Amino acid sequence: MKRPRPNGTCPTGKLRYRDRIAALLALARIDDIDPRRGEKRAYRCPRCSGGHAVQLQP
Ligand SMILES: [Zn+2]
Repeated sequence: MKRPRPNGTCPTGKLRYRDRIAALLALARIDDIDPRRGEKRAYRCPRCSGGHAVQLQP
């Protein structure tokens, strides 16, 4: 399975994924590494029309 990679940056400074699904898949990989790093979300950005992954600190 292909690993989603960021394909640019956003005006907000976040890593930009192709879409929200790609960001979600990237988060799933982070889960594999350390599932205790807090809640994770992915959303579509209105600024760059890409997807961003965010990690909320516990
Ligand atoms: Zn953006």
